[in-house]
Amino acid sequence: MNETLSNSELQENRAGKIPVKGQTLEELTRIISELGEKPFRAKQIYNGLYTNRYESWEEFSTIGKDLKDKLKEKFYFSSISVAKHLKSIDGTQKFTFESVPGSGKEFESVWIPSGDGGRKTICISSQVGCTLNCKFCATAKLPYQGNLKAGEIIDQILQVEKIVGDRATNIVFMGMGEPMHNYFNVMRAAELLHDGEALGMGAKRITISTSGVVNGIRRFIENKEPYNLAISLNHPDPNGRKEIMDIEEKFALPELLDAALEYTKVLKRRITFEYVMIPGVNMSGEDAKKLVKIARRLDCKINVIPLNTEFYGWRRPTDQEIDEFLRHLEPAGVPILNRRSPGKDINGACGMLAAKS
Ligand code: SAH
Repeated sequence: MNETLSNSELQENRAGKIPVKGQTLEELTRIISELGEKPFRAKQIYNGLYTNRYESWEEFSTIGKDLKDKLKEKFYFSSISVAKHLKSIDGTQKFTFESVPGSGKEFESVWIPSGDGGRKTICISSQVGCTLNCKFCATAKLPYQGNLKAGEIIDQILQVEKIVGDRATNIVFMGMGEPMHNYFNVMRAAELLHDGEALGMGAKRITISTSGVVNGIRRFIENKEPYNLAISLNHPDPNGRKEIMDIEEKFALPELLDAALEYTKVLKRRITFEYVMIPGVNMSGEDAKKLVKIARRLDCKINVIPLNTEFYGWRRPTDQEIDEFLRHLEPAGVPILNRRSPGKDINGACGMLAAKS
C-alpha cells in the first residue's frame, strides 16, 4: 500500500475517536477500565508507545486481536508525518511536519547537536503559526492555524529521534508558537516527556519559552511545573519593547518582571532571559545598562541571540557589535551565553521557522 493511501485512511478513521498518543497513564487506565479491560493493559499501551515506541497497533504483540479491535474503535493511532527534512552543513537538521498529510498545516522541529557532541537539543513547536506578531520573527509572517495536540508535540520528539537515530539530551519549546497559549497540551507533552514510565527526561533538561504571557507564567508558578522557564525579553524598556513585540501592550514589562521575580522566589530556580540582538534597536550602551539593572534584580541568566532574519532593514550584528554589547553587560554579574545560531543555511535557526524555506 502506498504511503499516501495509508495516511488518508488513517485520517478517515479519526472521526469520533481520541488520539492514543498524548494521554496520561491515569487517563488510559480509566478508558481501558471503561472498555471492561484490566488496568495493566493501559500500562502495556503506555509503555508500548513511549518505551518501545511502537508506531501501529500491529506492533503490540502482547495484545490479542479482540482487544486490538476494541482499541481501534476507541482510539486513533496517528503519527505526524515528515513533509520535508533538511540537513545543515553544521549538523543541524530541520523537520517540517504535518499532522494531516496534504493539509498545508505545517510545523517544524529542529535537531541541534552541539559542536562538541555532548549536548543534543530538539527544538519543538507548540502551535501551527503564532498569534503574537513579534516583528523580528519569521513565524509571525505565517497564518495562524491552531494549537498542536499533546500527542503531536510529543511525536515531534519520537519522529526526530527515530530519523536521526539518536536521543536528545535537552528539549526546548522554542519552535513555532507561544507555549503559554497552548498551556494544557504543552504541559501534557512535557509531562509525558518527563515521566519515567514514558520518555523519562529530567525536568531540568526541558525548557519552556514564553514571549511574556504573564497569566501563563503565573499558572506555571502556581502549578509548580518542574521545568525550566525562559522569557524572551528582547528589550529592556517598555517603549522599545512595544516597538518590536505586540505582547508588550497586553502584558507590560514591569508586570512581566514581577512574574519572573516571583518564579525565582517561589520555585527557587534561576530564570533564563532570551535577548535577540538587533543593531540600532536594542544594543545601545543605554539598553545594556537597563538590561544590567533588570538582571541584578533576580536570579537569572541571559542568552543573547544575534538576529537571524533581515526584516525592516534590520541586520545581524557584527562580531564587534556583539562583543561590545556583551562587555556592557558584564556588570550584571550573571551568566551570559552567546547562543550560536546553528542551521542558518536551512532556515532552522531561532526566528527562522516559517515552514516554506
Ligand atoms: N513564543 C515563544 C517561543 C518561541 S522561542 C517565545 O517567544 O519565547 C523563539 C526564540 O527565538 C525567542 O526567544 C525569540 O525571541 C527568538 N527569535 C525570534 N526571531 C528571531 C530572529 N529573527 N533571530 C534570532 N532570534 C529570534
